[in-house]
Amino acid sequence: MARRLAVLSLLFTLSLPIFAADKLIALTFDDGPRPYVLYGTPDAPGLFSVLDKQNVKATFFVMGWRLTPKTWGDHRYETNIGITCIDAAKEALKRGHEIEDHTYSHVELKTAERKKGEGWVIGDVEQGAKVIQAVTGSKPQYVRPPDWILPDDARRDLEHRGFRILTISSENPIQLRDINSLDYLCAGKAPKNCPKPSLTSSVLKQIEAREKHGISNHILAFHELTTTTAMMPDLISQLKSRGYRFVTLKEYMAAVSSKTTEQNVGK
Ligand SMILES: [Zn+2]
Repeated sequence: MARRLAVLSLLFTLSLPIFAADKLIALTFDDGPRPYVLYGTPDAPGLFSVLDKQNVKATFFVMGWRLTPKTWGDHRYETNIGITCIDAAKEALKRGHEIEDHTYSHVELKTAERKKGEGWVIGDVEQGAKVIQAVTGSKPQYVRPPDWILPDDARRDLEHRGFRILTISSENPIQLRDINSLDYLCAGKAPKNCPKPSLTSSVLKQIEAREKHGISNHILAFHELTTTTAMMPDLISQLKSRGYRFVTLKEYMAAVSSKTTEQNVGK
């Protein structure tokens, strides 16, 4: 019995790095920092503790305007728990998460460019980067434009400035394309359009569809929402049981970009 256990544990040890190298998830959350979601409220667990319990490090695409002094969130919709967004961002870093750029104002950039010009769009991304840098000490590398909408000229200019743009477009190899979880459809008290039978199963279905193309690395795009926080323990457990390892976006890109070949383009 002891010998069998030893063999099993040896096999487990040997196989783990193989799984770990092959199946990666970058879990990302947009639109924060929202202190009431991250720390939780008496009625709802916080995303920080949910991620800690699963030992998962995530990446937060934040709205720059929140990272200004004395900002506790959007007072129309969000519970003020007495913690500023800046302090929530610092706490995210302390817990090993990453912070990236979701623009400063979070307006839709195609319309903004038409009304205010390309320079304004670049400025909105750079302003987001600046307030993030003031908190993290380093310039963010990744930008996810609101609703993934970004005019082509602005995309090129941002890439020249060193940003990498997150996208759902088929221009990117499939491993470097976000999976849109559609979690915002499940927010609120009586969401009508939340995927059936559940958000978890619909995300898993999207992953399975990619696996059929031989893709076993995925960037999952969620939002800082209490409803999303509530489904995370189940989703994370299910993905772990399928052999996935959770990494930050930087770790994901370092591992996946180098392996991604031209043949994935257009899949
Ligand atoms: Zn957003």
